[in-house]
Amino acid sequence: MSSFHRLWQKAAASESQRRQKFLKSEDIFRKSAFMIIQEMLKLNVQTAELTKVLVDEILHSIFFLGIICKPSYPPEIIVNDTKMLGKLREKFPRPFEFYSSQLPQRSPFSCVLDMIVTQAEDKENENQIKQKLQEFIRQLSLGNEKPLVSSTICVSQIPNSVRYYGVSMSSKGANPGRIMVAASCLETWDSCVADAVMTYYPPPSNRTSSFDGTLQLEGHVTCQAFRISDGIELPPCKSCKELFGLETTDISKWAYGNCAEAESLSNLFKKEEEVKMNVQPTSENYTEENRRTAVADVQRYLKQMLHEVQFNWDKNFYVPQ
Ligand SMILES: [Zn+2]
Repeated sequence: MSSFHRLWQKAAASESQRRQKFLKSEDIFRKSAFMIIQEMLKLNVQTAELTKVLVDEILHSIFFLGIICKPSYPPEIIVNDTKMLGKLREKFPRPFEFYSSQLPQRSPFSCVLDMIVTQAEDKENENQIKQKLQEFIRQLSLGNEKPLVSSTICVSQIPNSVRYYGVSMSSKGANPGRIMVAASCLETWDSCVADAVMTYYPPPSNRTSSFDGTLQLEGHVTCQAFRISDGIELPPCKSCKELFGLETTDISKWAYGNCAEAESLSNLFKKEEEVKMNVQPTSENYTEENRRTAVADVQRYLKQMLHEVQFNWDKNFYVPQ
């Protein structure tokens, strides 16, 4: 065999390996999506009146993330069971109608968290909620790679308040993650969390404002994250320290807004007005005008990313029903 031939064979083999690896990892997306939908449908049986809206929302969110994948996963590929697909279309027509034109407000696993909290006998029993989430993930029987599954949960509280839960972003890949953070800033999060995140988002090269909406949580607010897989307490990362003034010596830094702290604190601010009043940012760059520029930056960046993934946005966020 000539050395050229050997080289060619080697190149062909590694190309085929690369493709197989790619197919495998993409197939994990499909499998994960399908399993999560199945588990949500099972849970929904007990409380459909209350939780049907969460199934509607998660279907839209998963179908959206599927269609912006490369190669894309339309609903009929994700749910490759004709009978089940027909039933889903009949019961939940709107996610099928809007997944390719409207943006989800949250990543899928936030709907799973809401389902579990809604069904918990005691919503203040955080250990039970963590355990149920852990069980939910175990049921999916995925390997180490778990697309669409959050890795952390966060619990925030002030003395005598209820607990406010949140999970980390569960969208795989850089573009989907960035799209979901943009959607959360513009539509979903409480303004305190959105303002803090927009201080660092989008990245500097895409930012024209000098807006500073970072905040300092008061000492009586607790905000603790846990790894879902084993319940271990996790210190806040450096990004969360910069955003919310959380104490930490941890040096890891996740993308701003990706951590469970953001959703959990947003839920707390939405309900606890006094806390919200007392954390108003103090920077002189915290002005209405700077905020408008910051919002415009996020909108422009979002449009650019949606263009990259060839998504034709109708400017609406999906409202589950
Ligand atoms: Zn963090």
